[in-house]
Amino acid sequence: MKIENEIKFIMPSLSVNEGTARAAVSSFIIQADPTVEELSDIRTAVSEAVTNSIVHGYRGTSGKIEITVRILAGREIYIKIKDSGCGIKDIEQAMEPLFTTAPEEERSGLGFSVMESFMDRLNVRSTVGKGTTVTMRKRLSIHGD
Ligand code: ATP
Ligand code: MG
Repeated sequence: MKIENEIKFIMPSLSVNEGTARAAVSSFIIQADPTVEELSDIRTAVSEAVTNSIVHGYRGTSGKIEITVRILAGREIYIKIKDSGCGIKDIEQAMEPLFTTAPEEERSGLGFSVMESFMDRLNVRSTVGKGTTVTMRKRLSIHGD
């Protein structure tokens, strides 16, 4: 798929950077003219993925999170969020609604479900001890306003 525009940035796994990532991604994709709802969906999905890298991937440690955002031909948004944290042992189980490894922290186990429902496509690749890469895509609607 033809890449029309792209940004890439790397940030440390500080919780303040959940907001940084949301803001950077929105300010970039605004040029593709998303609806308010599409923008909000994408911001939420980005937050969930970045939060997961911070609280699960780098649990008890810290590291870098790399984010790539692309606007593809046909107004499709591609987002990749990559950490080099602990990785996920069983991806299928991790993606089940309500599954969490941190129930004592009042995590609800719904992050992946939110990403899945707010985006058109979600792909998770992970290697224990190496890290996790989440890629998501969403095609923006054609709207006249
Ligand atoms: P919530 O997102 O509702 O606060 P949660 O983070 O536990 O709860 P999900 O976001 O669906 O729920 O993630 C499910 C589980 O997958 C997590 O509990 C964690 O074990 C694992 N996980 C998710 N992302 C990562 C990651 N980047 N690195 C390591 N483990 C992860
Ligand atoms: Mg989560």
